[in-house]
Amino acid sequence: MTTKAVPEGVPVENYFYKMPESGDEGPSLLGSRCTTCGEVYFPQTPQCKKCYTETTEVMVLSRVGKVHSSTIVHLAPSVYAGEVPYALGQVELDNGVLIPTRLVGGVEKPVPIGTEVELELEALGKDDDGNNIIVHTFRPLTG
Ligand SMILES: [Zn+2]
Repeated sequence: MTTKAVPEGVPVENYFYKMPESGDEGPSLLGSRCTTCGEVYFPQTPQCKKCYTETTEVMVLSRVGKVHSSTIVHLAPSVYAGEVPYALGQVELDNGVLIPTRLVGGVEKPVPIGTEVELELEALGKDDDGNNIIVHTFRPLTG
């Protein structure tokens, strides 16, 4: 598995990502897990939405998952800085958590449900100081 380098910039939210500490590993999403009932969330939450306790802890989420839903966006929201059309969907990780995300890999038709995908970080737009804004996306695994 090849890992694409993380682009220079600032994360869209600091608590979303665990950046790689070496060139061999890729970035990961940071979620939270309820230590009472085991439910997993992304983004992180201080209170479990299932059992309502405040017993969540930060959890590094899997970098790979499967497409749970997918569509093509032809008319983007005004805050969106990327090219249109683009693929949008949800990726289900091993522990069942659903990640809303852009999907890389074709804009002619939605990425098929069940396709195995890997997390990637990309620069999308600039902040008020001119820094690239780093966001997550998922790319289909090949061969
Ligand atoms: Zn819980």
